[in-house]
Amino acid sequence: MHTSYSDGKGSVMDMVRVAQERGLKEIAITDHSFGKITKGLRKRYWQELKADIIKAREIMPVLLGVEANLATTNGQIDIHDDLRSDLDIVLFGVHVMVTFSFRAMVTFCLPNLFFRVLGWTPKSQIRRNTRIVKRVLENNHIDIYTHPSRYFKVDVLEVASICKERGILIELNSKKISFRPVDFERMSQMGCSFIIGSDAHSPRNVGDFTRVQEFLKNCDYDKSCIINLNKTFTEYKNEQLSGGNQNRNTEFAKPIKRRSFWNRWF
Ligand SMILES: [Zn+2]
Repeated sequence: MHTSYSDGKGSVMDMVRVAQERGLKEIAITDHSFGKITKGLRKRYWQELKADIIKAREIMPVLLGVEANLATTNGQIDIHDDLRSDLDIVLFGVHVMVTFSFRAMVTFCLPNLFFRVLGWTPKSQIRRNTRIVKRVLENNHIDIYTHPSRYFKVDVLEVASICKERGILIELNSKKISFRPVDFERMSQMGCSFIIGSDAHSPRNVGDFTRVQEFLKNCDYDKSCIINLNKTFTEYKNEQLSGGNQNRNTEFAKPIKRRSFWNRWF
């Protein structure tokens, strides 16, 4: 969920109080990361956010995370290297108003915006988007890939195979699911794991999973593929760690060495 540290409408404590009232066992505060031009996290408020999370943990389990953005076509994301060790959970999703590198702006953002307005994306662009998103998922520690194909189209099944390989959970987003029930069924047959996210941007949406429930009514799937139907993210993570599953993505991959234009800016 998001708070007023990015584009949300409530404080950490506002969100936590509602989550507790509604009986949630664990929540993750995952504000939009630093590269978001409008209403993204700002480094100068990071310590304040951390202090809010620590205080909120007196009430219930709260994970500190971010929803990272694409920064470059090499697969870099917009999290400051020195803050990575603070994070309990890392989400990655493609968003629009982001400080992309020049190359990403020209080959990714602008053409996709154009095709979005047109309402049709050519296969060559979908292939390029898929390649770029796969690079992010391969090169970084990511726990959850959020709202696949929402803003810019990707080949969801191809991206899903990387998610499976790397132990990355695919989000079933309660605001909008941009793939078809049949794609979800195929991904679950492939052995992918999913997590339902409220994507709450205000206290009233905390724990609201109505849209996902509606979507799942039309799907034939094995319930065990959705991890937070019967356990928390932390319980799932601990299971993965104790299972010693080598394929699972349990540590931070080293950030890509090459410094981009973007890194020098922020
Ligand atoms: Zn998002």
